[in-house]
Amino acid sequence: MTLQDVARRYAVAISPHLLSLVDPADPKDPIARQFLPSLEELNTLPEELADPIGDSAHSPVPFIVHRHPDRVLFKVVAACPVYCRFCFRREMIGPAKENALAMDALEAALAYIAGHPEIWEVILTGGDPFILTPRRMAEITGRLAAISHVKVIRWHTRVPVTDPERVNDDLVAALHAPGCTTVVEPIPTRDHTERMLTHFGAEISVKDEEDGRRAVTVRGDAELVGVPITVPGDPSSAAFAIAAGLICEGSDIVLEGVLMNPTRAGFIETVRDMGGDVELLDLRLEGGEPAADLRVRAGTLRGVDVPPERAPSMIDEYPVLAVLAAFAQGETRMRGLAELRVKESDRLAATAAGLAACGVETAIEGDDLIVMGKGSVPGGATVETHMDHRIAMAFLTLGLGAEQPVTVDDIAMIATSFPAFVPLMTKLGGQFR
Ligand code: SF4
Repeated sequence: MTLQDVARRYAVAISPHLLSLVDPADPKDPIARQFLPSLEELNTLPEELADPIGDSAHSPVPFIVHRHPDRVLFKVVAACPVYCRFCFRREMIGPAKENALAMDALEAALAYIAGHPEIWEVILTGGDPFILTPRRMAEITGRLAAISHVKVIRWHTRVPVTDPERVNDDLVAALHAPGCTTVVEPIPTRDHTERMLTHFGAEISVKDEEDGRRAVTVRGDAELVGVPITVPGDPSSAAFAIAAGLICEGSDIVLEGVLMNPTRAGFIETVRDMGGDVELLDLRLEGGEPAADLRVRAGTLRGVDVPPERAPSMIDEYPVLAVLAAFAQGETRMRGLAELRVKESDRLAATAAGLAACGVETAIEGDDLIVMGKGSVPGGATVETHMDHRIAMAFLTLGLGAEQPVTVDDIAMIATSFPAFVPLMTKLGGQFR
């Protein structure tokens, strides 16, 4: 057995770009290991399958895989610029296979899609469909775009990584869909892109469906016009100054130009639920985004129940919200914080540990964080930040209102997200050593 035998069975290729990244002196070079054939590939184990993900069982016509009702895979080519040794389609791809879709096969696949109105998404795959000529790509895009129930055309490709020189103006132009393209979001996400594109002149409409999904439609070939934009202030950074203003006795501060996009305003909403005195002044549009000046005055806060649905709009603000909860009267329960465990650190654990160290009664129940506020916080501890900038800033903010000074074990990482944090808080009256 030789490597020629391997290559006869499974195609072998690496692009000049990836080859240039291989370190020949390193026998374990990860790129080389992805693409260099090995004799072991000819040992077929009993559990190995020729079609490991079962494409053929869901293939009503050649080159179509229809596994989910509303979506099909359309395997438009059986070749790639590289051949990955781990590829689960490697039995079916390579130069020795029939790799260009013949005209009758293309027509049969398109007819199948056109005959199934439940299909709203077509995923073009292969092989790697970006290996097609731009002319062929444009032709396929145009044919699919002409089927009225097809709302999303998605290209599965690794070409921008494996063979970036192939991505040229002609290829990009081939991807331009004429007419309208609609993206349906199963869960509504942050809409900064839609707002910014609208500000530049794109025609975008947004429709909330009855089942909770959101359909965003953009008209193709828009003429975008450059306009001056003022970028509103980041609400995640503003949260620290707002918290400081609320817990430091006698505070009365104004934060200018804070982003008030509803997908980012969960912290302000929660703070107001807690009785926090945050007044919105001069609500306006800046760069297509709602923005306002915020007047914050110190006062009494009460514990609240924060629903899990609010988490996406304030996920980065929970550490500082937990700090506020410690200064409130009564229990605050922040629900559904699983995502906090996989941030720069396990923020759920770090926040609970920091609060406990500062003398605050706190608990984690499942994915909920519970803080028993008593209106004041003893402080006087050194808090472990786990090199997480938001944990550091949250507990420095806590120190501003605590009875005893609070120390954090590191602040170097604050410089990456909020370099003006210490100067700004110092300007507001905070003392840092
Ligand atoms: S289909 Fe994807 S995983 Fe398979 S060889 Fe081509 S690029 Fe690699």
